[in-house]
Amino acid sequence: MISTSILLLLAMRTPRLPAEPVPELLPGVTSGARAAVMEVVRLSLATMRETLRSNDRCSTFLGGLAQVQLDRTWYGTFEGDPHVAAFTDPQDRNRVYLNVNGPIFTYRPGQFAFGRTDLSPAVVPQVYLFHEMGHQLGIFGQDANDAALNERYSALIISNCFQGRPPSGP
Ligand SMILES: [Zn+2]
Repeated sequence: MISTSILLLLAMRTPRLPAEPVPELLPGVTSGARAAVMEVVRLSLATMRETLRSNDRCSTFLGGLAQVQLDRTWYGTFEGDPHVAAFTDPQDRNRVYLNVNGPIFTYRPGQFAFGRTDLSPAVVPQVYLFHEMGHQLGIFGQDANDAALNERYSALIISNCFQGRPPSGP
């Protein structure tokens, strides 16, 4: 009986993380857009997971908690200004909101992004999601009203996680 109680206690104290983060969508996104958005997020997360495993510079920059943070994150969506990509809920860093009208989903080659035009559309969502992860992990500070700082954070993600690798995506 005692050992059963201990096992139960242990089970209760060890929260099980989902193997895959479960992207969810907020109401308001039309069902047609829903499948496309979900697919972009799903593919991006799979590639980011692989990047954290195989790219030492990237995993060192983001720190040892990056993989766990990825697994803990709930991704929601909103419909906002086309220039805004995403934001992390300041009250709950496990919640990230992606703008379905923003560059994560609308970026095309040649379009301005982070001062360069050679990033493939498949890489761009990963840059933004890693950027948000910088906020989630407390590596990056508040940049919502500071476009220059926002750019600098994205440049840090590109130089640490995508430099020297051909722009490619999932
Ligand atoms: Zn930011």
